Amino acid sequence: MCVNSITMTLVLLLTAKWALEEILDKINSRHILRHRTQIPHGFEQFIDLPTYQKSVDYTLMKATFSSFCDTLYLGFSVIIIFFGFLPWLFGFFTNIFGPEIVGQATVLLCVKVTLSLFSLPFSWWRQFRLEESFGFNRSTQAIFWTDKIKEIVLIFALCLPIVSAIIYLFQVFPSTWWILGWAALTLFQALMVVIYPLLILPIFNKLTPLPDGELKDRLIALAQGVNFPVNKIYTMDGSKRSGHSNAFFTGLGKFRHIVLYDTLIQQMSTEEIAAVVAHEIGHHKCKHIATMLIIESIFTLLGFRILHYLSGADWFLSSFGFAAWYMNSPVPLILVFLFAIPGVTFWIEPFFKYLSRRHEYAADRFAAAALGGGAALISGLRKLHRENLSNLTPHPIFAAFYYSHPTLLDRETALKK
Ligand SMILES: [Zn+2]
Repeated sequence: MCVNSITMTLVLLLTAKWALEEILDKINSRHILRHRTQIPHGFEQFIDLPTYQKSVDYTLMKATFSSFCDTLYLGFSVIIIFFGFLPWLFGFFTNIFGPEIVGQATVLLCVKVTLSLFSLPFSWWRQFRLEESFGFNRSTQAIFWTDKIKEIVLIFALCLPIVSAIIYLFQVFPSTWWILGWAALTLFQALMVVIYPLLILPIFNKLTPLPDGELKDRLIALAQGVNFPVNKIYTMDGSKRSGHSNAFFTGLGKFRHIVLYDTLIQQMSTEEIAAVVAHEIGHHKCKHIATMLIIESIFTLLGFRILHYLSGADWFLSSFGFAAWYMNSPVPLILVFLFAIPGVTFWIEPFFKYLSRRHEYAADRFAAAALGGGAALISGLRKLHRENLSNLTPHPIFAAFYYSHPTLLDRETALKK
């Protein structure tokens, strides 16, 4: 048993996180339920009462399910921490793959994948029960399981080199490894952004160049009009897995692509899609992506610095049940760190969400300026909310804590100004 002041502190932190999640869920669910009988004022023209009530039921069911998962996850975490499950898994895989650099990198990935297997039944249930019952599931058992296998293979193929590099730096440059490791990880992430649309996305989805015609002409004209040249616009078969719709940019610089879900093209008019794309261009023009990457990278550096400090603190790893001889490998430390980090980052998450909502308003303003008004964006956003059964009446505290996007009402109000 690993019950001591360090593990108790971590369990306390995770329990406090869980308790706040529960409280916020309850406040929000009660708030939504109270508004269930009537369509929120101003939305009567675009949504009917049955659809609105369906969106309420969908939100409530998602909340109940995630509260169930959170509770189970807390129990699971406490067992892992107190019963020394991490050192056990680490020892088990080290016996198989050995103490050398690549062996240890494999051990780290094996432990991560093993722990993630526990969430598999829940993601299955979410897809084939929850999403299914609201008509969103388009996936099949074959697609679902093939996706999981592809994900695991990709984790090993992509992460084994970078994790090995970090372990190497840790062993060869004991005093500066954390800066070098951070630099290597940042480079790796930048590389991922570039290769994601070219190599990884096509493994899961089929990307087809947008056929010539009205929509393509409109989007190219729009991009040229705001001096944001794009030469590649694709549609993606999002409908293969889900009825949810979206649009996004991917890649960097001249590797940049616009990707539209086929579901989005089915649901929206040309002008509405142009507004959604203009909003995405706005994120790039206002340097939101770069800002977020820089802030995240600062936090990653801080994380590496903390890891470096802890690597010299024997008491830390031994309180989680790791024996002292493991100290020449950073893997136990990284495992404990990755396991504990959600207990800490959860509390700063609202800051990121606040920043993200500010960015959404700015991108909306950009789109409205590019299209000479907010009307197309408003009707596009309304359709997105209706078709995705997004919640129209979250509790303000819940929205402030979790929402990366302002509510539809807030966005419309800002656009009409
Ligand atoms: Zn946005």
